Amino acid sequence: MSDSTPSFKKPVRVRFAPSPTGYLHVGGARTALFNCLFARHTGGTMILRIEDTDFERSSEEMVEGILEGMRWLGLSWDEGPFYQSKRLALYKATAQKIIDAGHAYPCFCTKEELEARRAEATAAGRPPMYDRRCRRIAKEDAAKRVAAGEAAAIRFAVPEGGSTSFDDAVFGKVEFANAEIEDFVLLRSDGIPTYHLSVVADDIDMRLTHILRGADHISNTPKQVLQYRALGAELPVFAHVPLILGPDKTRLSKRHGATSVIAYKQMGIVPEAFRNFLALLGWTPGNIKDENGKDREIFSSDELVKLFSLDGISKSNAVFDNDKLAWFNTEYIRAYPADALRPLIEDEWKQADFKPTRRDAEIAQAIELLKPRARNLKDFATAFKAYFADEFETDPAAAAKFLTGDVPAMLRELGARYAAAAEFTEASAEAVLRGFAEEKGVKAGGLINGARVALTGQGVAPSLFAVMAALGQERVVKRLSAVS
Ligand code: GLU
Repeated sequence: MSDSTPSFKKPVRVRFAPSPTGYLHVGGARTALFNCLFARHTGGTMILRIEDTDFERSSEEMVEGILEGMRWLGLSWDEGPFYQSKRLALYKATAQKIIDAGHAYPCFCTKEELEARRAEATAAGRPPMYDRRCRRIAKEDAAKRVAAGEAAAIRFAVPEGGSTSFDDAVFGKVEFANAEIEDFVLLRSDGIPTYHLSVVADDIDMRLTHILRGADHISNTPKQVLQYRALGAELPVFAHVPLILGPDKTRLSKRHGATSVIAYKQMGIVPEAFRNFLALLGWTPGNIKDENGKDREIFSSDELVKLFSLDGISKSNAVFDNDKLAWFNTEYIRAYPADALRPLIEDEWKQADFKPTRRDAEIAQAIELLKPRARNLKDFATAFKAYFADEFETDPAAAAKFLTGDVPAMLRELGARYAAAAEFTEASAEAVLRGFAEEKGVKAGGLINGARVALTGQGVAPSLFAVMAALGQERVVKRLSAVS
């Protein structure tokens, strides 16, 4: 068969077509992102289609979970969501068209018969493919049996010789021997379409121009190409995206950590950081260097849209590297202005049932001070609580290490000095502490470490005097005076 050449002149129409039988996983999110970037880059249309014809395993709750993941990642769509469960008539009509064109036939074999034959074939060392026996039933006889109400599935009549091929935008020419493709079911006897039928019926009906999806679908593609040809429809451009592997080079799974996108939200990842990280799983923007001459990796959403192209999609599998994700996250937290971080942090506070008691400007100042040290957004609702409210926990290990001997008593006395200070700035706070240490004949370091624990509850923090300035005189006095 010859390949029909896809037209590149048409406006781009792409889709993300998740099956709501699970949450939005990392691979699905990456597929959605690539489709979004491609649609935005080309000024095309992004369609969201929910492939929910597996009625037993699909649920509205899963759909909601997928939408939540997409919203979190800022992945938008222009049309839909369309639900395949509401489009069954289209699939039936499409199957009928394929029958009418002479490329499909009713199959009366029962599930039990098929299972028995499959077992027999396997035992005899033959591939357990459908033996095409119903394909040999005369058309008129088959039509009579269907008219009489006999249950029948519809199978595609795969050509007996030759091969089916398509030009993949990523993998190049992909070819399958027809002998290896079984006469697959299009429509089950209960009228429910298989994935193979519904995906093609919809992709044609929705006028999709490009199909970007995981490389795990490559082996499904010849079955879809055969249907396009049987229906006389123009092929879209297929672009299969390489798989995502764990660090041990096996397919990413729960063994490697979280695979659900929302789990990353719950870990305190900034959505834009996750999106940037995902974009580079299997795609490169070409030769773009950072100021140190290294491959640049940080790209804003607008840059990703501008740079995205199918040419940049790699054939080799991508590796999901948690350390890299953590790096992206800290880079984004550092780069975000406080007011951009604030809503993300507020979300963390809400989750932790934590209410900040400080004024807006003080909160902004504390966020600025803390963001270079944050590992993730969760820190703002855990380790950094002392900057936002007066109720916070003290790390017992830090207290045991630094609030020992004379230190607590000295810190209380230091608190009194600060109470009496006429001015209170970063520099003056430092001068007071250093003068006090000298007067007492102790090392300033011991007081600094102790004060850090007393003021923040933590053994590590930004520069102590910057912390003091951020907390303000009154709080510093109060917390130092209360050291025990
Ligand atoms: N519903 C399919 C899945 O979730 C995707 C179908 C496709 O992209 O063709 O794997």
